[in-house]
Amino acid sequence: MTTKRLPTTLQKMGLDTPLALALHLPARYEDETELYTVKEALTRGRSISVQTQGVVIRNQVLFRPRRQLLVTIEDETASLQLRFLNFYPSQQKQMAVGAHIRVRGEVREGFQGAEMVHPTVRSVVPDAALPTSLTPVYPASAGISQTVIRKAVKQALRDPGIQEHLAEFLPKPLMAALLPTQDWPPLQSAIAYLHEPPADADTQALLERTHPAWRRVQFEELLAQQISLKRAHRIRRERRAPSFQVLTAANNGVGIEAGLIKVLPFKLTGAQQRVWSEISDDVSQTFPMNRLLQGDVGSGKTVIAALAAARAMDHSYQAAIMAPTEILAEQHYLKMKEWFEPLGVNVAWLSGSLKAKEKKLTQAAIESGQAQLIIGTHALIQESVSFAKLGLAVIDEQHRFGVKQRLEITQRVGSELFYCHQLMMTATPIPRTLAMTYYADLDVSVIDELPPGRKPIATKVVKASRRDEVISGLHSWLGKGLQAYWVCPLIEESEALQLQTAMESFEQLTHALPNFKVGLVHGRLKSEEKAAVMAAFKANEIQLLVATTVIEVGVDVPNAALMVIEHAERFGYAQIHQLRGRVGRGSADSVCILMYAEPLSLAAKERLQTLRETSDGFVIAERDLSLRGPGELLGAKQSGDAMLRFVDLQRDAWLIELAQQAADRLLADHLDLVERHLERWLGSRAEFLKA
Ligand code: ADP
Ligand code: MG
Repeated sequence: MTTKRLPTTLQKMGLDTPLALALHLPARYEDETELYTVKEALTRGRSISVQTQGVVIRNQVLFRPRRQLLVTIEDETASLQLRFLNFYPSQQKQMAVGAHIRVRGEVREGFQGAEMVHPTVRSVVPDAALPTSLTPVYPASAGISQTVIRKAVKQALRDPGIQEHLAEFLPKPLMAALLPTQDWPPLQSAIAYLHEPPADADTQALLERTHPAWRRVQFEELLAQQISLKRAHRIRRERRAPSFQVLTAANNGVGIEAGLIKVLPFKLTGAQQRVWSEISDDVSQTFPMNRLLQGDVGSGKTVIAALAAARAMDHSYQAAIMAPTEILAEQHYLKMKEWFEPLGVNVAWLSGSLKAKEKKLTQAAIESGQAQLIIGTHALIQESVSFAKLGLAVIDEQHRFGVKQRLEITQRVGSELFYCHQLMMTATPIPRTLAMTYYADLDVSVIDELPPGRKPIATKVVKASRRDEVISGLHSWLGKGLQAYWVCPLIEESEALQLQTAMESFEQLTHALPNFKVGLVHGRLKSEEKAAVMAAFKANEIQLLVATTVIEVGVDVPNAALMVIEHAERFGYAQIHQLRGRVGRGSADSVCILMYAEPLSLAAKERLQTLRETSDGFVIAERDLSLRGPGELLGAKQSGDAMLRFVDLQRDAWLIELAQQAADRLLADHLDLVERHLERWLGSRAEFLKA
């Protein structure tokens, strides 16, 4: 089979070689191995799909109440009506009177008696043989028919080269040692079985992907993933990075790091001290750090980033901090200026919204090395920015960035290439082991303790019909000298609509709270405007801030201790958790009011209830995880998950250890097989993990 003969639609799905097709495994199966008479079908097919066949005796298009096609088939036992609400002329023809067709579907009671609505239809000769295997249903993008994929897969499995491609090359002794009790078929049989399971196969196990044939495939896939993780790990250790050890001067209280510790208005928590010592160890190595710092909202990640930056600067290297939004980046900038400028550090700001002239100046300062600590948005990774000597890159809320959006900056010193140390930060908690399996070679540190003095946030769930009460509560709240956020809902379908509701709430609240200043911040504002509103809120010139979700991450105003979230039912777990983390930062008791509109879906109800009961980021993440899968939480694009098609790291967790052991053995004793194995399972995707 040559690639030329494959339909371009398949090629677009990446199904462009026999191997790719062979590894395109079914999502589920249909049982077409049994055929019932029409009469049997009428009774059996009431809640399950059944297959029957007959001759078409009527084929009629009706126009009332709407255009539809009615077809009746009949065999010697009974007749059955088929109803199609959408149909093509070709289908009408396929089911012309006198045609012999085989149909599959559920029987329902319609207005005119029993019928099948939109059954699958196949033209057959009267005594056509039944398939002896289950019919695979393949994952497909829109517009590709199952028939086309099935045909292509069948052809691929018969391709003369496929034997070779699917050959067993994991050494027998290795398999035997690792899998003493597993009764797994050889790879090629497993693949063949999954494409064409016999009629009596354990369909449950196939569907749940726990069948030995699936296990075999999953093991191989996981093995490929583990090998590439280990490889990425080794490659990183072979790279060079500047080693930033604690200077003797610092120990004597001299230098930027020592200075920062002196000016900090608080003592590090135990958890902060622990992660800082992990990071401090990393950056003193001669290979680049690649560490993820996890800590719930408000756990104090910023100061850790600052300490790491200080260490780099003490060694005369630059440090950069990149954040996904202008607001967040700006907060970092202000904080860093506050901490570092008194220590004589030149802190620079670079964002897309700077005027061309200012941008040029900043870029020049970055290039000359005059700018020591650079804070900014994506603008930092644009080509026009070249760092004089970048030693450390911090990426806040890293899951918001794509895989290419890294600050992977290198520089030559003499003949040697130096990489910068990288620290990613996230408030999205992920079980550590999972994170480490997901990411390409990543170390993980966790801040699992909040700074002292934090008051727990009381969360209340309130119907939208009690809005007036909420507003009068707000009145007395603001009267106590405290500030509040009012968060307007995310409207994914329309930014204009989102803006409109925010404006409406803003007007209503301005009107209802004449003694207080109400501010509005949303995504359409220019960044200077946003910054001005945020600054006014911070200075308590604004008491109530109406905002769209632009305040989701990082905003830090301790005097704001009340948050109202409108249409909380439209937000996901993580979003509300992040939002809520904006309050509870000062000494006052904090409250978060989740207002919801009815009707409430079951999922939304459960979500709001969980959020009311707990503010533990790990509990919330776990709930979220079970809904969405870790890939999405971490930013699937940059995770090792992108390599896994058949493995579900939660369901198949027990396989991970086996795969790890096998990966170690292969890397130690069978390097020749490693390449072949990666090529088979990852193909072009292998590249990705080298990043
Ligand atoms: P996040 O982890 O969400 O980025 P921040 O770094 O913004 O959290 O810290 C939240 C708040 O807690 C800030 O006001 C910060 O100054 C304060 N903070 C951080 N560490 C401590 C500490 N050890 N003791 C007291 N306050 C702290
Ligand atoms: Mg933060």
